[in-house]
Amino acid sequence: MVVPKFKQKCAMCKTNWVEMFSRKQFPICSKCQMKKLNKPIEDPKFKKMFDLPTELYEKSSFLRNIKEAYLRFGNLTEKQIEAFKKTVKDLKENKEPGTAKPTKAVKED
Ligand SMILES: [Zn+2]
Repeated sequence: MVVPKFKQKCAMCKTNWVEMFSRKQFPICSKCQMKKLNKPIEDPKFKKMFDLPTELYEKSSFLRNIKEAYLRFGNLTEKQIEAFKKTVKDLKENKEPGTAKPTKAVKED
């Protein structure tokens, strides 16, 4: 488990505090990052992959960073895709009782 080293104000809204893990990290709060990430994706494969409930992105900076990387470079490595899918799966399975909502995106056989 990585523990944030310090906190810094978000560089976009200058209101929210951001947990910083390294000096190189860009201080951006999840709200502003979500706004930045809210762009249409053309590639059907990635469109499907990134089509997740906002709460998952809010929970995981990793998911946000992967989406940001995709939007910046227009592609991802297989490793990034695998890690993304695994994180989504873990987040969905670790849902706290009471917060679970009906999942429409998940297929059940
Ligand atoms: Zn912000």
